[in-house]
Amino acid sequence: MALLVLRNKAMDKTLRCTVCTWRGVWAEAAAGRVQPIPLDPALEEVQQAYEEKQLEEEQLGAPRPPPCPVCGHHTVPVKLHRNYAAV
Ligand SMILES: [Zn+2]
Repeated sequence: MALLVLRNKAMDKTLRCTVCTWRGVWAEAAAGRVQPIPLDPALEEVQQAYEEKQLEEEQLGAPRPPPCPVCGHHTVPVKLHRNYAAV
């Protein structure tokens, strides 16, 4: 039951793509199924780093963010700033 609650919370998280400008909610990314687009070798290396970081976090029990629904590459949770809307 507790796990279910955690999963639902994750589904509401906002994610952003590490390659393109996509930004949206977890559930939106989870619904997409795209082949990753080819990247420059330098960017591929960055993606590898994200992959390793995600694997580490998964081993600690964190849910794995779905890939970007636009380009198929890694997404990261967006940290929401409380005062952002007031600016
Ligand atoms: Zn993307």
